[in-house]
Amino acid sequence: MRAWSFSDFGNSGVLSLRTVPDPEPADDEVRIRVVCAGVNPIDRSIYTGRFPWISTPHTPGVEASGEVESVGPLVRGLEEGDRVVVYPKKFCGRCMNCIRGNENLCLENLRMASEPYLVYMYSNGAWAEKAIAPERNLLKVPRAVPNMDAACHAVDGLTALHMISRASPVLGESVLVIGGTGGVGSFCVQLAKLQGLRVSALVSSPNQVKAAERLGAEVVIVRGDSDFERKLFDFSNGEGVDIVLDTVGASGLEAGYRALGPRGRFVSCGVLTGKDASLNLLRLYCTEAAVIGSTGGSRAELQALLSLAAKGAVKPLVDSVFDFAQLKSATARLDSHGRLGKVMLRVGRD
Ligand SMILES: [Zn+2]
Repeated sequence: MRAWSFSDFGNSGVLSLRTVPDPEPADDEVRIRVVCAGVNPIDRSIYTGRFPWISTPHTPGVEASGEVESVGPLVRGLEEGDRVVVYPKKFCGRCMNCIRGNENLCLENLRMASEPYLVYMYSNGAWAEKAIAPERNLLKVPRAVPNMDAACHAVDGLTALHMISRASPVLGESVLVIGGTGGVGSFCVQLAKLQGLRVSALVSSPNQVKAAERLGAEVVIVRGDSDFERKLFDFSNGEGVDIVLDTVGASGLEAGYRALGPRGRFVSCGVLTGKDASLNLLRLYCTEAAVIGSTGGSRAELQALLSLAAKGAVKPLVDSVFDFAQLKSATARLDSHGRLGKVMLRVGRD
């Protein structure tokens, strides 16, 4: 099979396409013929060395959908030809958090340093014609959901759904999505709207305004707009927003915190623009605000998302789709300003 991999950390120049032997599934594992893979910011973090403990050579690609090609002898629930999506978190399936259905907080992982713990950080990922996954990491994809959409839901859709649940929303509350047309943000806008919330969005470029409105945002503000606070004040009837869903990291905390009203909840899911940010504790306690972390989501949430997708209630915003061999163009697109949603790879035939 062909696979993209790197041996040394660096920019996308370290990635090369090689022919390697097909991977063999262990007893409880499944080999997938990859059909679609995402080109996610976390893949960039992987090959540029944000996680220096990742062993190399390594094939990135944390988002994947495809078809079961072969199964290990202990696999009972899947067979050749099943369409599947990879649940992205590494988890044991045995600890109390896994038993409770909080696989994203698997205790086996949390004993170590804080990291995202994705299954394809520990083994080769989906920028390859074939990939291996433990059976417990695979969900069947409903017939009505295309492979491309399934791969989009795997990481970014799931992250968005879980962020909203972490905010414990109440019908009619107001939301600001920071990064409203990004991979996660474009799902946040749609899913918040679907849950009966009023949605505003902050985007980085004027060309993203119309897209955010089409996804369901009532008010869209471009970063740097000097009227930012007044527009959000009007949107939230002078109260400040109830919920901020920050998909961008440190710079989002600064912007979102200003927008937050009394008892507002600020939810963070990533560190694309940095991991360190300062917080005004005076304002925190005086407004009884909450700052909440959110990492991935559970298998049950991914299943729920696939069911919503099968009914047409949520549809990924896809910026661009590249052929497998054009990965370098895809990573360049990921880095470009003004992107509208997901950058995807077409690896194999549907
Ligand atoms: Zn566990």
